[in-house]
Amino acid sequence: MERTLAQRQDPQRNARTLLLKNADMLVTMDGARREIRGGGIYAEGNRIVAVGPTAELPATADEVIDAGGHLVTPGLVNTHHHMYQSLTRAVPAAQDAELFGWLTNLYRVWANLTPEMIEISTLTAMAELLLSGCTTSSDHLYIYPNGSRLDDSIRAAQRIGMRFHASRGSMSVGQKDGGLPPDSVVEREDAILADTQRLIETYHDEGRYAMLRVVVAPCSPFSVSRDLMRESAVLARQYGVSMHTHLAENVNDVAYSREKFGMTPAQYAEHLGWVGRDVWHAHCVQLDDHGIGLFGRTGTGVAHCPCSNMRLASGIAPVKKMRLAGVPVGLGVDGSASNDGAQMVAEARQAMLLARVGFGPDAMTAREALEIATLGGAQVLGRDDIGALAPGMAADFVAFDLRQPLFAGALHDPVAALVFCAPSQVALSVIDGRIVVKDGVLLTVELEPVIERHNRLAAQLAQMAR
Ligand SMILES: [Zn+2]
Repeated sequence: MERTLAQRQDPQRNARTLLLKNADMLVTMDGARREIRGGGIYAEGNRIVAVGPTAELPATADEVIDAGGHLVTPGLVNTHHHMYQSLTRAVPAAQDAELFGWLTNLYRVWANLTPEMIEISTLTAMAELLLSGCTTSSDHLYIYPNGSRLDDSIRAAQRIGMRFHASRGSMSVGQKDGGLPPDSVVEREDAILADTQRLIETYHDEGRYAMLRVVVAPCSPFSVSRDLMRESAVLARQYGVSMHTHLAENVNDVAYSREKFGMTPAQYAEHLGWVGRDVWHAHCVQLDDHGIGLFGRTGTGVAHCPCSNMRLASGIAPVKKMRLAGVPVGLGVDGSASNDGAQMVAEARQAMLLARVGFGPDAMTAREALEIATLGGAQVLGRDDIGALAPGMAADFVAFDLRQPLFAGALHDPVAALVFCAPSQVALSVIDGRIVVKDGVLLTVELEPVIERHNRLAAQLAQMAR
C-alpha cells in the first residue's frame, strides 16, 4: 500500500519497469493469437513494451515476477454490471421472477439506497471482479436516491485501482407515465442531462490508457422517454463518449417496444440514433435477424450476460450469429441481483455452455469465450489499448495458478482449461502497470472491514424496505 502510494507520487513512475517471466503459458490475444510457453511480458510504467519467450525479453527490471506454474492472460473486461446490487443478492421476493417482476420487486428496496451504500457496494463488487480476473469494468448506475451520485462509484474505482467505464444511467418515466419504475426513483430529464454533462467534464479521460471514462446510459427504453434517448445521444456525441443501455432483453421487452413505439427494439434504437461504434447494448437476447444485420453493419456492440439471462429465464442470445454478422460482442456479469455470483471466468464458461445448449456443441469454443471476455469487451467499450498483450497495449494482465486441484489433468491445454475448469480466483493482477493482486491477495484495499460494512448496509437496506 505504502509502496504504491510512493509510486504514484513518483514523477519517474512512468519509467518504472516490470518483468513477468517464465509463465507456463501466456495467451496474447494479439493479431496472431500467440500462445507462448515460457512466455513473459516487459512493461515500462503503464504500458507493455515487449511480449515473448522469456529468453527474448530484458533479463531484469525494477520489479520481477516469476510466473512459473501460472497461465497468464490479458485482464478480462466486464461490459455490463450494476454494482450497487451487491446489496440485494438473493433477495427472497426476487429469487424466482422474470425481468419485469424482478425489477418491480427490487425498485422499492433500491429507493432507500444512500451514497455510502453505493460506494461500499461498488468497492465490494469491484473486489470480486478483480479477484476473478477482471481488470476493466463498466458499471451502469441508473438509480440515484437520497443524494447518491455517480461520483460515489467513481471514488470506489479510484480507491481499488480498477480501470473503469462509469455509466451515468437514468430513469425518467415512472409508473404514473406508463413506465415500470416507481415515481419516487425517477429523475427530471433536464437534471439528468445536466448531471451527465458535469460528470463528463469532471472525469472523462479520452486519452490512451485512460483509467476512467464516462458513458451516457439511460437505463432502458421502458424507463426513459424518446426525447431523453435522443438528447442523450446528442450529448454523448458532442463529447465523443460512448453510449449504453439495455435492449431486447426478453420477449416482454420486445412486446413493450412493439406496443408502445410500434417498432422492434432494434428499429427503435436505429430510429433514435442509438446504433454505431460508440454504442453498446446489454443483453440483446431477443435481437431479431434485422437487428443483428443492423448491428453488424453499424458496429453496434452487445454485452452478453449469460448467467443473468439464465437466472431471469430471458433466453439464449444468438452470439454466434451476431459474431458472424460482425457484431462486436463482449461479456457482462450483469448486476449482482440477477447474477448473484459475479466472476469473470465463470461467466466466460457459462457463455460457452449456454451457446452449446442453444445452438449445438460447436456454437462456442473455450478460446472464443476467452476472446469475447478480453478483446471482445475491449472492442465493445471502444478501446484498442486493452484486451490483448502486445507492445503498446496497457499493462493489464492476470495470472492463474495452474497447480490448483481444479486444473489437475488439464495441463496439456491450459488455455482451454481456463474456461472449461473455470478457477474463481487469480493469483496476480496487474492494472495499468500496478500490481493490484499478488499471491491471491488484494493489495489496494483491506477487504475484511469493507465486506463487514457492506453486509451491515445490506441488512439496513433490507430492514428499510420492510
Ligand atoms: Zn443490466
